[in-house]
Amino acid sequence: MTINVGVVGYGTIGKRVADVVMLQSDMKLIGVTGNSYNFRMEIANSKNIPIYGVEGTDKKSFEDNGIKLAGEMDDLLDAVDIIVDCTPKKIGKVNKEKYYVKKGVKAIFQGGEKASVAEVSFVAQCNYKEALNKDYVRVVSCNTTGICRTLDALDKAFGIESVHATFIRRAADPGDIKHGPINSIVPVLELPSHHGPDVQTVMKDLEIFTTALSVPSTLMHMHNITVDLKKEITAKDALDLWKKTRRIRIVRNAEKIRSTAEIVEFARDLKRHRGDMPEICIWEEGVGTNKKKLFYMQAVHQESDVVPENIDCIRAMMGFEDAKKSMDLTDESMGL
Ligand code: NAD
Repeated sequence: MTINVGVVGYGTIGKRVADVVMLQSDMKLIGVTGNSYNFRMEIANSKNIPIYGVEGTDKKSFEDNGIKLAGEMDDLLDAVDIIVDCTPKKIGKVNKEKYYVKKGVKAIFQGGEKASVAEVSFVAQCNYKEALNKDYVRVVSCNTTGICRTLDALDKAFGIESVHATFIRRAADPGDIKHGPINSIVPVLELPSHHGPDVQTVMKDLEIFTTALSVPSTLMHMHNITVDLKKEITAKDALDLWKKTRRIRIVRNAEKIRSTAEIVEFARDLKRHRGDMPEICIWEEGVGTNKKKLFYMQAVHQESDVVPENIDCIRAMMGFEDAKKSMDLTDESMGL
């Protein structure tokens, strides 16, 4: 069976999801949406991706630049089995009511939407089966995806009593010229930060408390995590576990990867598409234990870690039952 997929919102996340959909032998990218002509649209067009207009699309800007739109949102919805909505936060919810529910089309939302937009909040390794055959699922944010991946492995292997984590967030994405800070460290003056409750939408029984701050960087987020485990383990036990867990990569000070900048450079040297690092990177030398407490530091590439989740989520919602097989297919296609 071929799954016909549409991507609504062709920005940081949407363009990456669209590219990886095109790599799947069981999926077909029917098209993406465009608001106005820009370099992303030019590239979509050069890849022969059909571009559909939405309400308010500046059609003339496309015409003036020689791009013929394939149709309107309704045409896209008529041609797909599922939409991956990658619009900015709050727009997904509007689109759900305005389009997807009316047309009876399944839709995936992103982490900028509230959990209530969907029936399930999703991280493939944690709860693939909960998304089976669902109509509306939310792939959680980059931060929530990142911490769920590494905690889920620990919880399954050793059992977790509780977690305290600090999220050091990049101020903006590399292509974003509007957000900051550019010369400040900005604490989130809300405790817990929204991340802890968001993690609990996936790992429902996990006791977790989070704090967060933003720093002037665009490359990656960092998480400093303290886990109270149910049993005493060594740092090596944790590292051995993560080494065999998919979508996690152990990086080492010993190989001179000491910063998020060097991880991004490393991803480029690996010839990763767009220099992406969808795996969560844990520093080997940054893992320590004290009795039943485990400390670790991880870096999250916000632009790409949720991309494999979206692909697995498509399969789960279309009824593909074998979670492992789906993740194998996705990872293989992305070279993970
Ligand atoms: P973005 O701003 O890079 O891209 C959004 C795209 O949607 C743009 O191309 C914009 O033109 C288009 N758009 C705007 N309004 C639209 C509408 N009404 N209909 C159709 N398209 C419309 O945003 P992003 O960073 O890709 O974020 C998308 C979602 O993914 C958000 O929920 C965000 O919270 C989440 N997310 C973002 C990141 C990240 O680091 N960028 C990481 C994980 C999750």
